[in-house]
Formats: sequence, structure tokens, C-alpha cells
Amino acid sequence: MLQITDLTVRYGSIPAVRGVTVEVAEGELVTMVGPNGAGKSSTMRAVAGLEKPAGGTITFDGRPIGGLRPEQVVAAGLALVPEGRHIFGGLTVKENLSLGAVSRRDRKAVAADLERELERFPILRERIDQAAGFLSGGEQQQLAIARALMSRPQLLLLDEPSLGLAPRMVDSVFATIESLRADGITILLVEQNATRAVAMSDRYYLLRTGEVVRSGLAGPDQVAGLAEDYLAGHS
Ligand code: ATP
Repeated sequence: MLQITDLTVRYGSIPAVRGVTVEVAEGELVTMVGPNGAGKSSTMRAVAGLEKPAGGTITFDGRPIGGLRPEQVVAAGLALVPEGRHIFGGLTVKENLSLGAVSRRDRKAVAADLERELERFPILRERIDQAAGFLSGGEQQQLAIARALMSRPQLLLLDEPSLGLAPRMVDSVFATIESLRADGITILLVEQNATRAVAMSDRYYLLRTGEVVRSGLAGPDQVAGLAEDYLAGHS
């Protein structure tokens, strides 16, 4: 479904991503892990159209999407939940959710999708007319995910969804990811909670200084080997 091949991303002369190849098949949950600065977010941002690739190709369902503008990437069927959530604090929960569907014309279907997201995240229904800035961090993360789902993506890009959340909210974010996956939503995830993310994924990629240094099948049995390799990167 998503094929990233030999991707390079640079900030000026600094190479942040150096020849990364990552693949996500339909229905998979794939996680990218690795230490800070490994290039995980830059890879996500390039896929989402927020950074222009300096090299390599990105295709989605066989169609090249590398270098498209963010709204064109959304139209192609991908949605990014960015690191730091980036919800609009001064707008209501409902307004934030509507923004996720801003490019859609099928009003009836949008209304049905809004209802579905409010079923999925009951706290958002309770707070539907409140300014999003008053939500807790965990609630804002739910809003950011629900907003992304309002574009009816075929592939959801989740960048550090548990970052900065209280432990109970981290649990709830992981439960949300599990349930999205059970709904058949294809997900590319970046998580600093590496063991936990890998334990629930189908496959993983370990990045370090802009390169994929290890990849393979994920799941609870793969975590021990990964932890060794991951820690080696920190020493
Ligand atoms: P983190 O968990 O810290 O976000 P990451 O694996 O997502 O790490 P990136 O954020 O992609 O890594 O960063 C990769 C490299 O690119 C780092 O060395 C970082 O300092 C650099 N970098 C990221 N964004 C920029 C930017 N806007 N300008 C310059 N350098 C950047």
C-alpha cells in the first residue's frame, strides 16, 4: 500500500533521513522506533507532504506521492496525526473535527463519520462544544486522531501519539490503536514507547541516525531481541 524507497530528507546540508526504505501493506500495523534524532518524524513528515524529499520515492497504491502538497496527500487517502497533536485550541471540539473533513463534499457521509468518531471517543461527545484548548492532553490526542479519521484515510500516520501523556492516558492511546487496528485501519506508527509499540505491531523498523538498521516481524516474541539492539544504539 505504502512504499517508501531510498528516501532522503535534508534540512539544509544536514541529512536527517538517509536512504530509508519502509513498506506498509494493507491492514498492517507497522512501527518505526529508534532514539531521538533517528529520522522517524522526518520520514513521516515527508510522507505527509510536510517535507520535500531530497531523494528516493514514495508511492501509495502504486501512485507516486513524494513531493505532493499536504492536502494532495490527504486527498490520496493518507492522514497524519502529527507529533504534538496540533489541534486548534481556540476552536471547539466539533470545529476541529469538521476541519478533518474540510475537503469532503459528501455531507451526509461526513455527518455519519462524525457520529462514528463520537461513538469511538465518548469524551469528545461530552465536550463537543467546548474549546479544544481546555481538553486534557489525552483528550486532545483522541481529538487529533478523530480529526485525522474524519478524512476517511486508507492509511493513518501516527507520530508519537503517547508523547507527554500521563500513564493512564498512555494506556488509553494504546487501546485506541488496538481498536483502530481491529477495525482494519492500516497504520504507520512512530513511538518512543518502543517495546510496547513493537509488541502489538505486525512489523517494525529500527532507525538510527537517519538509516534503517534493523527490521522484521514484530509481536511480543520479537521484543527481547529488539530491546538489546535498541539499547546498543544508546551506548
Ligand atoms: P525525535 O523522536 O526526536 O522526533 P526522530 O527520530 O523523529 O526523533 P527527526 O525529528 O526526524 O528524528 O530528526 C532527525 C534529524 O533531523 C535530527 O538530527 C534533527 O535534529 C534534525 N531535524 C529535524 N527537524 C529539523 C529542522 N526543522 N531543521 C533542522 N534539523 C532538523
